[in-house]
Amino acid sequence: MDQDCIFCKIAQGSIPSSTIYEDDMFRVILDLSPAAAGHALVLPKKHFRNIFDIDEATASRLFVVAAKVARAMKASLNCDGMNIVQNNEEIAGQTVFHFHLHIIPRYKDDGQVIAWKPGSAKPEELQSIAAKIKVAMNE
Ligand code: 5GP
Ligand code: ZN
Repeated sequence: MDQDCIFCKIAQGSIPSSTIYEDDMFRVILDLSPAAAGHALVLPKKHFRNIFDIDEATASRLFVVAAKVARAMKASLNCDGMNIVQNNEEIAGQTVFHFHLHIIPRYKDDGQVIAWKPGSAKPEELQSIAAKIKVAMNE
């Protein structure tokens, strides 16, 4: 636990939150500034800054919890779709530096835009990038 981290305090239960799910590894809460009704955050109880330092046990359990929450939201809120978003570092929009996964139910005409500008790449550029990543994957 990081003493200065608000999500550590929320995850541990020392700051109250609208909790929708809790187990030994995670607390799932409603976001204070929701993009849409039901916008939730999956918080590991252990402190990780983001994807770059999350441990394997937490990472491998994360989507089991996310899928459980997603299905419960679909059943209870009758949403039409859902975005799963996870920001890492400031450049990517991270504002709270304790790993969290956004689960954002989507509704027809909710007016939200969660998007990127599609770019373009030549096949040889894709191959060169893939080759670099593959080398690092094996390190
Ligand atoms: P990020 O931009 O880091 O991916 O997302 C941080 C999210 O945390 C934002 O959607 C913001 O509304 C939410 N948030 C920040 N502080 C609190 C808080 O104290 N309680 C809750 N429930 N959500 C928070
Ligand atoms: Zn923390």
